[in-house]
Amino acid sequence: MATVRCLWSVPARPALQLRLKPQFLLSTIQQRNASSKHPKGFEPPTYADLSELRERVQEFTRREIPEKVAAKTDKSNAFPNEMWQKLGEAGFLGMTADEDVGGLAMGYQAHCVVMEEISRASGSIGLSYAAHSQLCVNQLQLNGNPDQKQKFLPGLIAGTSIGALAMSESGAGSDVIGMRTTAKAVDGGYILNGTKMWITNGPEADVVVVYAKTEPDKGSKGITAFIVQKEFEGFSCARKLDKMGMRGSNTGELIFDGVFVPKENVLGEVNRGVKVLMEGLDLERLVLSAGPLGIMQAAMDVTLPFTHQRKQFGTPIAHNQLVQGKLADMYTKLQAARSYTYDTARKIDEMGQIRTQDCAGAIMYAAERATECSLDCIQLLGGMGYVEEMPASRLLRDAKLYEIGAGTTEIRKIVIGRAFNKEYSSYAS
Ligand SMILES: Cc1cc2nc3c(=O)[nH]c(=O)nc-3n(C[C@H](O)[C@H](O)[C@H](O)COP(=O)(O)OP(=O)(O)OC[C@H]3O[C@@H](n4cnc5c(N)ncnc54)[C@H](O)[C@@H]3O)c2cc1C
Repeated sequence: MATVRCLWSVPARPALQLRLKPQFLLSTIQQRNASSKHPKGFEPPTYADLSELRERVQEFTRREIPEKVAAKTDKSNAFPNEMWQKLGEAGFLGMTADEDVGGLAMGYQAHCVVMEEISRASGSIGLSYAAHSQLCVNQLQLNGNPDQKQKFLPGLIAGTSIGALAMSESGAGSDVIGMRTTAKAVDGGYILNGTKMWITNGPEADVVVVYAKTEPDKGSKGITAFIVQKEFEGFSCARKLDKMGMRGSNTGELIFDGVFVPKENVLGEVNRGVKVLMEGLDLERLVLSAGPLGIMQAAMDVTLPFTHQRKQFGTPIAHNQLVQGKLADMYTKLQAARSYTYDTARKIDEMGQIRTQDCAGAIMYAAERATECSLDCIQLLGGMGYVEEMPASRLLRDAKLYEIGAGTTEIRKIVIGRAFNKEYSSYAS
C-alpha cells in the first residue's frame, strides 16, 4: 500500500492548464498507485493542483452560472442546454476519463471539487452535471471496451452529446435488483422492453447506460448493462417530471418498446451487470456527496453577509449569541462533511482504496447536514428566507434530493451496516 502523504506538505506543481495541457509533471515524492478505477499512469493531484482547479471552476461559475442563471433554471424548470458545450470546453465533463478521448484523468478528488463548485452555483445544474460526467462518462470509462470508449466518450466529454444512467424503475427503486426491464437475446444483439423512472437527463440524453434482465430467473446474476443510443427505434421519453426541487435538472420516465441494441453495445460482461452497477454506485455516491457540500457552502454564502448586514434592536443580528450558535452549527457541519468526502476521495486517488461504507457514509452525512443548513439559512433570513427573491428556499428544495437519489438515507445505513457485516463475518463463527 502506498504511503499516505500529507497534501499540505507537497510542493506545488506547475500551474494546471486545463484543456491546453492536461498532463501532469511527475513529482518526485509522488507514489504511483495501481487503481483499476483510474486511467493508466494516473498521478494523484497535489493540494496545489486541487486549489488551482477550484479557482478555475469558480471563475467558470462566476461567468456562466451567476445567481440569475441559477434562479431562471429553477423557475423555468429547464436546463440551459448551452451549458453542456461550455462545460465541455472547460474540460469538466471528463474529469476521470482517459486523456486520449479528451478526458483530464484527474481522479475523484478533482471530480468532487468541480461537482461542489457547480452545485454551489446551482444545485440542479450540479446534479445534471454529475449524472453526465459520473454516472454515464465514468461508467463508460471504467467498463467500456476500447471501441466503445472511442465511439462515445469524445462527444460526451466535449458536451456535444448528453449522457444519463437508467437503473431505477417505478416498482424498483431501493430494491433495484427487482427491476423488470428485460433484454432478450436475438440474432446480433438484444431486444429491450420495459420502463425506467426518475432518470436525470433522461428527456434529452443521447447516450444512456441502461440495466436490464438478460436472465430474469437468475436475480442479481441475470442483469446486464447496455449502451442505448437516442436514435434507437422504440426508445423514447414518456414525460418530463415536475419536481419540488432540482428544477431544471431534467428528470424523465424512459420507455423501451422492443428496442434492438446491437451486441457491440453490451457494457461489461453479459449477466455481470450487477458488478458494473454496484461498483458504479460507490463512486457515484462519493462524487454526488460533493453536491450537498456545494449547497451548504451556498447557504453560508447567503447567510453570512445577510446576518452581518441585517440590523434589529440596533445591532447586526449576527452579534446575537443565538444567531452565532446557528452560524457555528452550519459552518462546522459543512467543514466536517467536506473533510469526510475529500478524505474518502483521497484514499481512492492515492491508495486505490474504495470503502463502500465511506462512499455511502459521505453522502448520507453531507445530505442530511445540507437539509439542516438550508433550513437554518431560511430561519436566519427571517421573512426574506421565505420569499422567492432570495435563493434560500431553492437551496432547501435542492438539498432534500440528496437524501433520496443514489439510494435513500435508510438504504445508505443498510449499505454501511452490511459492509461491516462482511468485514466482521469471521467473528460470527
Ligand atoms: C430527482 C431524482 C433524480 C434521480 N435520478 C436517477 C437517475 O439518474 N438514474 C436512476 O437510475 N435513478 C434515479 N433516481 C431514482 C432514485 O435513485 C430512487 O428514487 C431512490 O433509489 C429511491 O427509490 P424509490 O423512489 O423507489 O423509493 P422506495 O424504494 O419506494 O422507498 C420509499 C421509502 O421507503 C424506504 N425504504 C425502502 N426500503 C427500505 C428498507 N429495506 N428499509 C428501510 N427503509 C426502506 C426508503 O428509504 C424510502 O424512505 C432519481 C430520483 C430522483 C428523485
